[in-house]
Amino acid sequence: MRCKLCKKNEAEIFLKSYGLRLCREDFISFVKRRVIRAVEKFRMFSSEEKILVAVSGGKDSLALLHILKDLGFSVCGYFLDLGIEPMSLSARNMIERFSKRFDVPVIMDFLSDVFGASLPEISRKMNRPACSYCGTLKRYFFNQRGREFDVVATGHTLNDEAASLFANNLRWDVSYMSRQYPVLPAELNFAKKVKPLIYVSEKETAAYCFFKGIEYYEEGCPYAKGASSIFLKRKLMEIDEKRPGSMYRYLKGFLDKKRREGFMMETDSILQPCQRCGYPTTAGLCSVCRMKDRVLFDG
Ligand code: SF4
Ligand code: ZN
Repeated sequence: MRCKLCKKNEAEIFLKSYGLRLCREDFISFVKRRVIRAVEKFRMFSSEEKILVAVSGGKDSLALLHILKDLGFSVCGYFLDLGIEPMSLSARNMIERFSKRFDVPVIMDFLSDVFGASLPEISRKMNRPACSYCGTLKRYFFNQRGREFDVVATGHTLNDEAASLFANNLRWDVSYMSRQYPVLPAELNFAKKVKPLIYVSEKETAAYCFFKGIEYYEEGCPYAKGASSIFLKRKLMEIDEKRPGSMYRYLKGFLDKKRREGFMMETDSILQPCQRCGYPTTAGLCSVCRMKDRVLFDG
């Protein structure tokens, strides 16, 4: 079958949600257009701004770094090595190869250097699952590194955002819903945060990496087994398989300006710099500085 757009090349991919059969070149342009659309609609950044792209070694963040570089934006990758083996080592090696091959600079930090302990060590010391600390620590160090940049971009896809909306919806967690948005403004000298892949699905980032020959870490995190976010993500994908386009309509409907206003909440918490590291917090010390005290100095 021929590509629906150029009507010349053989179609190599069928995008069920849009009823489109596309050749490789038109698929790549299609994905890039979805990214440009999100960047423009939510005023994420301009071509003059310096963007730090958080990469994990997975398909989504590497596809994002590649797309933004290809579109001519000024990008630098950032990898935080959490010390979860064998995942961290494999991911790091892949990112190093990506950086050389596509000529993109990547900054690498080790959690054991910048925090003083790896994620498995923190989890053992605190006697709680690694996942309870992972997001907070990643956000903290992305933001700290992001101070040297104008914008911090993450590879959250349509699937991630729809699954997180679904989880918040099931709990009617209006507080989280009011903060779920593809752009978070800069605060207290910390860079603006954006999610340019909001209109791109994980199937599309996987196909993008395949067509561009981007090698990525596929195994997944050893701590991910049984995580409820993965269960919800899978359920949403099943729905999307049966009713193509529902995931996109679900998220797009939520982001509709008028509808979102219904979820906006007045918040009386005022952010101030952490007394030790300057990170925005509502308390005297931020959660990571408090965590550090407990992991490194308690008992
Ligand atoms: Fe972090 Fe996800 Fe691994 Fe949990 S499963 S430790 S949240 S990367
Ligand atoms: Zn702090």
